[in-house]
Amino acid sequence: MERPRAARNRTLALGLAALISLPLLTSGPAQAKGNFPSPEGNTSTASILTYADTVKELERIEETSRYGVDVFTLAEAGTGVDTSEQGRDLYVATVGDGPKDVWVQGRIHGNEPYGAEAILSLLKDLGTNGSPEYEEIRDAFTIHFIPMYNPDGSELNIRQTVLWDTAANAPRKGANGQDLIVDLNRDWVADKFQARESLAFYEYWTMVDPEYGIDIHHQGLKQQYGTGDDVTLSLGISLAPGGPTLPTLKGGAYDVLTRQMHGYVYEELKGTGFITMDRYQVGNSLEIDIKGGVVSAMMLGLNHQNLNPEGHSNPVVFFETSGNTSDGSLGQKARGKSIQQNILAMRTLLGGLASGEVQQTDPEVWEDIPHAPVTGYSTDYAGTIPVTP
Ligand SMILES: [Zn+2]
Repeated sequence: MERPRAARNRTLALGLAALISLPLLTSGPAQAKGNFPSPEGNTSTASILTYADTVKELERIEETSRYGVDVFTLAEAGTGVDTSEQGRDLYVATVGDGPKDVWVQGRIHGNEPYGAEAILSLLKDLGTNGSPEYEEIRDAFTIHFIPMYNPDGSELNIRQTVLWDTAANAPRKGANGQDLIVDLNRDWVADKFQARESLAFYEYWTMVDPEYGIDIHHQGLKQQYGTGDDVTLSLGISLAPGGPTLPTLKGGAYDVLTRQMHGYVYEELKGTGFITMDRYQVGNSLEIDIKGGVVSAMMLGLNHQNLNPEGHSNPVVFFETSGNTSDGSLGQKARGKSIQQNILAMRTLLGGLASGEVQQTDPEVWEDIPHAPVTGYSTDYAGTIPVTP
């Protein structure tokens, strides 16, 4: 999987936006010392990883790894569109030499930072740790880590990305004169693909044809149904199990397998003191059934521009850490634990899939994960669909 180094192209013309947002991203208090390790070395005192930090850390991990971490850009991988809207290189790191590919993405929403940090930390561990647990994962899988899917939005500390006029080096404007912004997690839709990031990563997905996927997000603060305890981690599936869509895919295989994936994580981590889990729901009692999310499009086997003529698809689950950086709800004290719970959740899931324990899990464990009684499905194609009693 070595990519030619000569093709590596550092894009320096990053646009004004990155410069404006820089103080926000690099200032802030030094991290409080906690019981849990920060992701890595020189990044531990910055409040949030910048794009430059991420690239530097990826290269450091590649250089120091013992088990073949390969860091490359989508330009090196050879996708047709291969940068962000503002021209930043899009990075992937692979580790493991197993026959099955796994896709792990973080920070598709730029103001949801810990996916990147958790991925870098797990990548480093998989690249250096010789223990049987990590060896089993490396032997089973080739993992494609995307620590920062949305580098422009990350630099701006916003959820979306801004569509960019490269010639003018300025935001593209809509009919109303406003900047055109796109939620990259609603853009893998046949008649959309408005952003370069979407086309680039979609094409890469068609090159990889992964077996499984994991997606890391942040959510607002919430309480666990029944106990009122503060939730730290919500377990989500973007096409609701038992809902209008998932049971129709692959003869119901993904409806079972995604519940097994989260059921296994829940069973393994529910005794972990600093983690309080529930199921991801919106509007208190709605499951989501959205088709435009990247991970939904993967499960649906989207064939855009005939890049996926064989209709490849794969099951994907997502993790939501409570708190984000835009509304100030993400306290510094929670940082280490928030990152650590994502590392643990990913490591647990990858290990369980590699050993086959996930596939042996009772899918009905999904019902044991705390959640409000489901009253309907929040969709991006038919409004809210009520659950029929
Ligand atoms: Zn998100």
